[in-house]
Amino acid sequence: METPLTQHISASRPPLNLRDYEQVGGYQALRKVLKSMNPSEVTKTVQESDLKGRGGAGFNTGMKWSFVPMNDGEMTKYLIANADEMEPGTFKDRLLLEGNPHQLLEGMIISAFAIQANISYIFLRWAYKKAARLVRHAMDEAYAAGYLGRNILDSGYNLEMYLHTGVGRYICGEETALLNALEGKRATPRTKPPFPQVSGLFGKPTIVNNVETLCNIPHIVNNGADWFKGLSPGSDAGTKLYGVSGRVNNPGLWELPMGTTMRELIEGRAGGMKEGYKFRGALPGGASTDFLVDQHFDIKMDFKSVAAAGSRLGTGTMIVLDDRTCPVGFVHNLEHFFAQESCGWCTPCREGLPWTEKILLSLERGEGRPEDLKLLALHTQFLGPGNTFCALAPGAMEPLQSALKYFREDFERHINEKKCPWAKDHGTH
Ligand code: SF4
Repeated sequence: METPLTQHISASRPPLNLRDYEQVGGYQALRKVLKSMNPSEVTKTVQESDLKGRGGAGFNTGMKWSFVPMNDGEMTKYLIANADEMEPGTFKDRLLLEGNPHQLLEGMIISAFAIQANISYIFLRWAYKKAARLVRHAMDEAYAAGYLGRNILDSGYNLEMYLHTGVGRYICGEETALLNALEGKRATPRTKPPFPQVSGLFGKPTIVNNVETLCNIPHIVNNGADWFKGLSPGSDAGTKLYGVSGRVNNPGLWELPMGTTMRELIEGRAGGMKEGYKFRGALPGGASTDFLVDQHFDIKMDFKSVAAAGSRLGTGTMIVLDDRTCPVGFVHNLEHFFAQESCGWCTPCREGLPWTEKILLSLERGEGRPEDLKLLALHTQFLGPGNTFCALAPGAMEPLQSALKYFREDFERHINEKKCPWAKDHGTH
């Protein structure tokens, strides 16, 4: 099984420096692009590979690039790596940033060339201090070796790259809020259209891609679109970094073919549930996705199959809920996070999330009323798709709405027993 993204990353060895990376074929894809391809050929190859954005949206990457205006003379354009990884339960980009930062840099330089951008940024999560150090070092090495800066590898192509560390706000992962943050403004999402591909950073055409997405680019250029499609037997191309956290025997992160089943992830890679714990459900792609349960164990973890099961692949990093953890407390914890991270721009989210959190807390304290369940269900509609300015609030409602569907009995027990039935197990009461 091929694992192009992680094949040179190991816990037992230091991250790849420039020499290590070059020794395993690093920067060969960039040489190929600059020597023998034009920008539209690069975009076409990526589009044909069917690489879909790994940040959660699942949109064809090459198609996204194709919306950038190309016949505009010397217009400034930007390429941005979204490394603001703050989705609870998600730690996939961190591995790529810390394990092989040159892979990201090479992917960025090729992507920037494809849209003819001359300025690029890495927007990095504030808390990723180690990644910041390693990426900065890799950038220094790349500048010194002529892979960044003016006249890269004597091709006439110029690209400057800057590392920007955020201040730790979840909303900055939303691409237009990220652009506002980078411009030094309040990090609130922007109205779309115009889309960033046409009017993004400082009003110029901009592509924002996720770290994992960009790391795939050198491999697609080196091996071709058909090779990439052949990595997966399912409907989505390539490999995916899948993660499992929770009370499993072997929590972790693995690069596997797109469409690997949930069973293989939980029972195979993660080694099943810890002794004394049973599986109750899992959020398949970070905190802002709907629960999947037992009946979904054999679904393929790709964009289409997970959507058909009523959830989203999201970041592909799963959080497992066990039978000794209170589902109400679990969801309360998530809603606390989302309420805290609401940017406050639109009323349903700014007011609705703290209210949702309060209702869940009162249930946990044994102070819930029967009508609270109806109120929670109403919130999932008021904060649902189309009622808020961006996807943060609808995403926050996904674990709640699916918990009300699959674990309704647990909510009712809190009301009937006037306490959290798990109080002793998780020790919070
Ligand atoms: Fe801000 Fe929430 Fe509205 Fe998004 S949904 S714009 S995060 S207040």
